[in-house]
Amino acid sequence: MPESEHTITVAGVAQVAGVAVDTRHWIGGERVASAGTFTDVSPIDGTTLGEIARGTPAEADAAVAAATAAFPGWAATPREERARVLRAIADGVDKRVEELAIVETTDNGALLRSHRRGVMPRVAHNFRFFADRLLTLGHADFETRGHTNHVTWDPAGPCALITPWNAPLMLESWKVAPALAAGNTVVLKPAEWTPLTASLLADVAAHAGLPAGVLNVVQGYGSEIGDALTAHPDVRRISFTGSVPTARRIAASAAPQLTPTSFELGGKSPLLVFADADLGLAVDLAVEQYDNAGQVCLAATRVLVEEPIAEEFVRRFTDKARRLRQGDPRDDSTDLGPTIHPRQLEKIDGFVRRAVAAGARAVVGGHRVAERYYAPTLLTDVDQDAEIVQEEVFGPVLTLQTFRDENEAVRLANGTRFGLAATLATGDPARADRVTARLVAGTVWVNCFFVRDLQAPFGGSRRSGVGREGGTWSFDFFCDLKNTVTAPKGWQGHG
Ligand code: NAD
Repeated sequence: MPESEHTITVAGVAQVAGVAVDTRHWIGGERVASAGTFTDVSPIDGTTLGEIARGTPAEADAAVAAATAAFPGWAATPREERARVLRAIADGVDKRVEELAIVETTDNGALLRSHRRGVMPRVAHNFRFFADRLLTLGHADFETRGHTNHVTWDPAGPCALITPWNAPLMLESWKVAPALAAGNTVVLKPAEWTPLTASLLADVAAHAGLPAGVLNVVQGYGSEIGDALTAHPDVRRISFTGSVPTARRIAASAAPQLTPTSFELGGKSPLLVFADADLGLAVDLAVEQYDNAGQVCLAATRVLVEEPIAEEFVRRFTDKARRLRQGDPRDDSTDLGPTIHPRQLEKIDGFVRRAVAAGARAVVGGHRVAERYYAPTLLTDVDQDAEIVQEEVFGPVLTLQTFRDENEAVRLANGTRFGLAATLATGDPARADRVTARLVAGTVWVNCFFVRDLQAPFGGSRRSGVGREGGTWSFDFFCDLKNTVTAPKGWQGHG
């Protein structure tokens, strides 16, 4: 795409691939600028997409104040009306799928075809799902010695929602939709590398009739405005998706107020391939882990293969991985787009170089491709305690280890500090049950990958997260549950 397609105007609106995107904050139903800006760059070709408002604690405070002011009105809005507005947001997303898809791809470099066909429709689904779920939330009623207990899901208050760059609008809507459905107000802070679709979501929500101040979007660096949000005494919930080091900072910042936090963090998930598996399927599952150029928290980046089939597995995997096409994510024939940022590319390359120096062998890839891409990589000859096996790379880098039996498979699979997901390839359902029961993971997929239902709990064990969201679990987090006990008529007290 020629550079001229992205033009920046002084009025705070960037034209990104022909779509007008406001680059200012959205606070209290108005566009608000900051004194400073930061430059948003496309990972596809390095072109400047816009000068984005660089939030300071003052704008974070203003957004929390707007969310606080809007809270009583939205909390008191009948469920049916809240659900109607959420559905209108979903309709607005559906209408703008093409625009949202091209802006997201231009901003984060993930495949346009998946944004178009999968991700953006899923964003709309997130809003519809939580609208529906809100209407089915029951009240629990029961009796204690003639007294009635009545349990309600009360809105909690303003929520700070903080999201990463690898699936921006998808992860934003995954938090915004249940928070709003629950009757809360929101301050959303998207990642600084991908600020654009959050701004479009503010437009869509305003157009759908969401009252001013119910959803606020502040742009900027987490290191500059993060504390102002997460330490704020009026913020009642913090939902964060991102890295472990940032989660630690947020936990410390939220601690004095004891603000409840939900953390969806990194992973180093295993793919266990048993000798009784359908080998073709297992190879497909492994190659699928290069999706989004490996920038997926759930990716099964540690491939564990039973010894007798390891050689054949590597042969078939190598064949398939070498046929993957890397290139422009707007091209339908591309399988892997660019890495989000030169800094991320540097980080990936550092991991691989250190692994190779420590004795690993790159049977596929192992190097950069041009300025912005990293080749799909498979490293063998790695030890369980090696950095490359223990730490999240967040790039298209897999390791392969072999195992002799189920016990060893489980030991290797559970042998990191993470516990986000695990994938099993086996033809034996009894084995699947036995192994699954022993795995530490928030999600286990058996002979499949990335099948996600919004009704299911989602989250990670160990350092992969704190808490679960999804289905009713989202409401558990975003609501203050209240039990009201009422005495029977004429009750005279305990005496
Ligand atoms: P990151 O932790 O660097 O940043 C995430 C967000 O936190 C950004 O918006 C950033 O601005 C903000 N932030 C940074 N410092 C902050 C602070 N002190 N206070 C408040 N906010 C702050 O993560 P990233 O590099 O953007 O994302 C990649 C990570 O996210 C990977 O570890 C990946 O596994 C994880 N992730 C997890 C899931 C999941 O569902 N478990 C999904 C996607 C990504």
